[in-house]
Amino acid sequence: MTELICIVCPKGCHLHVDEKNGYTVTGNACPRGAIYGKKELLHPTRTITSTVRIEGASIPRVPVKTDRDIPKEDIFAAMKLLDSVTLQAPVHVGDIVVANILGLDANFVVTRSLEQATDSD
Ligand code: SF4
Repeated sequence: MTELICIVCPKGCHLHVDEKNGYTVTGNACPRGAIYGKKELLHPTRTITSTVRIEGASIPRVPVKTDRDIPKEDIFAAMKLLDSVTLQAPVHVGDIVVANILGLDANFVVTRSLEQATDSD
């Protein structure tokens, strides 16, 4: 039996996952917790949020995230890909920063639009 906190919503239900009984989940207040608990043990994934450098904007970094979950074991390698990225303003929400991360069919996308800075910025 493995104990987990469900991270799908802020309620944070305490889950018990029974590996010896088909990964049956108890303690979940809704079906999403059962899906999360089973997946977390069999194939854990996460959405990654980070920032990348941007030139020509009023701030030096712009937030990005993956547009779908990627396997937990690939997070470090995926984050490394962002080190070499420098965007040029303007950028818009949804712009692809890194396409098809590590061949995982997920992209890093911009999550905040930034216009080109003017002298008054
Ligand atoms: S089990 Fe459902 S209600 Fe409980 S934290 Fe997870 S998503 Fe939220």
